[in-house]
Amino acid sequence: MVGMLIDGKITENGVMLDVINPCDETVAAQVPDAQTNDVDRAVAAAKRAFPDWRDTDPAKRGAVLTAMSKTIGEHMDELAKLLVEETGRPFPLAQFELDLAMKYFDYYAGVRLEPQLIVDDETRRVELHRKALGVVAAIVPWNAPVYIACNKIAPALSAGNTIVVKTAPSTPLTTLRLGELVAGVVPPGVLNILSGGNGAGEHLVSHNDVQKVTFTGSSETGRKIMAAVAPTLKRLTLELGGNDAAIVLPDADPATVAPGIFAFSFFNSGQVCAVIKRLYVHEDIYDAMCDQLVAMAEGSVIGEGTNPDAQFGPVQNRMQYEKVQTYLKSAETDGKIIAGGKVPNDPGYFIPLTIVRDVMEGHAIVDEEPFGPILPIIKYRSVDDVIERANASPYALGGSVWSGDMEAARKVASRLESGSVWINQHCALDPLVPFPANKQSGFGVEGGMEGLYPYTALQTINEAKPQ
Ligand code: NAD
Repeated sequence: MVGMLIDGKITENGVMLDVINPCDETVAAQVPDAQTNDVDRAVAAAKRAFPDWRDTDPAKRGAVLTAMSKTIGEHMDELAKLLVEETGRPFPLAQFELDLAMKYFDYYAGVRLEPQLIVDDETRRVELHRKALGVVAAIVPWNAPVYIACNKIAPALSAGNTIVVKTAPSTPLTTLRLGELVAGVVPPGVLNILSGGNGAGEHLVSHNDVQKVTFTGSSETGRKIMAAVAPTLKRLTLELGGNDAAIVLPDADPATVAPGIFAFSFFNSGQVCAVIKRLYVHEDIYDAMCDQLVAMAEGSVIGEGTNPDAQFGPVQNRMQYEKVQTYLKSAETDGKIIAGGKVPNDPGYFIPLTIVRDVMEGHAIVDEEPFGPILPIIKYRSVDDVIERANASPYALGGSVWSGDMEAARKVASRLESGSVWINQHCALDPLVPFPANKQSGFGVEGGMEGLYPYTALQTINEAKPQ
């Protein structure tokens, strides 16, 4: 049993939430189900801790973030095992997520918000400052639970804010355990971690003492949160759904690009906001690309995360498992399933890697975000046309271009509307590089210095000089 971190103490409340192991549907653990008073206590602790933390020397704040990164490193094995238990994914993938979380702590430990001198002449001196906001509420989804919590905690704390994190109901375990491990490293109240359902999230985002909300999750919940913060006009960052298009240009060699495309389509069994969800392939190489990807899907091992041979795990929760199956059903008539498609009648939320060809826009598996291991492959003839089709989605999170001709690839990249465009790769996350969300994929940005600024308020100090 792991508890919530509130005001530097590990807390239970007697109301429990089951965490289900997605590989066999058994109860893996129980965690506290945060109630309204737990949320209120966490926000009050964060509010109390704020003035001291804001006024702490930035280098000391950085040292705390470094210590948090070290804590993850020192407990890598234990934390990765917990992450495997609650997500079902293979162990190396759990380690990859924790490594990425450490990189965000390391990066934001080293950045500093220096005042910027705007003008200094005979009459005035004007400086631009960026100041901490206060209490930040962070709402986290289930698909990359630790990484997403940490890429909010690191910049929020680096800038001098305090934070209350609400983990996703189905994946709280590893983040709660991390909270226990860092309880002695972070001053009481600076970091608070809650487990609980959507109601706890609703109460947290509308709390009067919260100054900013940072949310990663579905566009549907993002809209509700935007409405909930309106009465108090809180600062808001929304990192929402995606329907990333990858465009394979006619010159690309299918055998060369297929491994990367395969890896970034089925990464974490497709449960990533910015993996390839629509693959556009030029008609000249369409059949060859389909053949390459089918061979890789058929050669992959899907299994329990504890199985060292498994390369792909299950879908994380029952609701998502059922949702993905409705997309599989529609794929049977919308196109031609050339790999996977048949869900085994065994315990666990396993879905085979599924590839669908001869499918078009206007069908759910192309227009929507299945958020599971399904890849639609769409044929195109003209590059101008495919750019228009890639941009036609209401989502604009990531996109990629695959080609041996870098000049041609860059030209196409510059015409895409997504926040990130990758060339001959996809979903290359890096704390140094801003990860913006455009259109209905959200607004605000995470990563890099641009990802630090949304945790601050601007202030000019404008000084008249004696004349
Ligand atoms: P979700 O929107 O169902 O839930 C996310 C979190 O919001 C959970 O912690 C949930 O308890 C909480 N929540 C639900 N209703 C709430 C409310 N009214 N007020 C406050 N909190 C509330 O999302 P999910 O199913 O956990 O995650 C999958 C989605 O997340 C996908 O659409 C995916 O694309 C998106 N996602 C986006 C990014 C990104 O960076 N853009 C990254 C990962 C996932």
